[in-house]
Amino acid sequence: MSANPPLLVADQLTKYFPLPGGRKIHAVDQVSLTIHEKEVVGLVGESGSGKSTLGKTLIGLHPRTSGTATYRGQPLPQRYRPEDFRYWAPKTQMIFQDPYSSLNPRMTVGEIVGEGLQLHTKLSAAEIRDRAGDWLKRVGLEPDHMSRYPHEFSGGQRQRIGIARALILEPEFVVCDEPISALDVSVQAQVVNLLDELKTSMGLTLLFIAHDLSMVRYVSDRMAVMYLGVIVEIGPASDVFFNPKHPYTEILVASNPEPDPASERNRRSATVTGEIPSPVDVPPGCRFQGRCPKVMDVCRHETPRLKPVSEDPGRQVACHLYGS
Ligand code: SF4
Repeated sequence: MSANPPLLVADQLTKYFPLPGGRKIHAVDQVSLTIHEKEVVGLVGESGSGKSTLGKTLIGLHPRTSGTATYRGQPLPQRYRPEDFRYWAPKTQMIFQDPYSSLNPRMTVGEIVGEGLQLHTKLSAAEIRDRAGDWLKRVGLEPDHMSRYPHEFSGGQRQRIGIARALILEPEFVVCDEPISALDVSVQAQVVNLLDELKTSMGLTLLFIAHDLSMVRYVSDRMAVMYLGVIVEIGPASDVFFNPKHPYTEILVASNPEPDPASERNRRSATVTGEIPSPVDVPPGCRFQGRCPKVMDVCRHETPRLKPVSEDPGRQVACHLYGS
């Protein structure tokens, strides 16, 4: 556990999307999560597990359905108004998954990167241009790229532009929403290394959302595993990766080969069947019961709560195998 004080605390945070006929998508369901200052929390899980929705709800891009969130002890609004975005945007930012659709094709790179300064500071146009040029250099691009348009750049370069746009306001907390999943494998490590370097030099706190557990283990202090809108396991990243406790984490880890053969030999393996259920029709009891190779009777009607594992400090698991 980090010695730093909590930066962001979510308590029972819930986000439902209403559907016609009174039904709803249970995207995020009563998630409680504390992120400490300068900590990197990796968030993993299959598509549809609610990872991106949780990240967006934490920084106000989706209004919360219920629950609370605080930032340095200050309550975050349930539904952000324009003045709330003006107040919070310099502190909390997001790097988006898709470097193709997240950059406005009609704006130059200089306008994209400098937009935050234009909206949130009183700097002159010349000062904004200078800062945008500095930031392009900082993310490994050239200042003379300012007058070009996004379509003139590769995927990796566009993600660097997205990083410069998010960080130019020098935020403290950044949600990285699958920042490498749309990139070629050959450039993924470069972008991760850039983020790692900026995190250290700027003292950033990150929520790093990704599919690739090896990458998350590499960049994160703690790893949280989401399944169907809830966190089912959280703990020190290496412990979760090399000694997963929740049956779902075991399966995720087993299906994510570790590049280092020595590490690979030390890991457990497991198999999973079936698809993640619809977040509209959430199963009773444990949400993983329909796919769990270790399912018991109790799992079908009693919901396991996220609880500390007695023999493993810092680890919390939501599973009846661990005394829920
Ligand atoms: Fe499997 Fe039961 Fe644990 Fe759910 S609570 S993960 S069904 S053993």
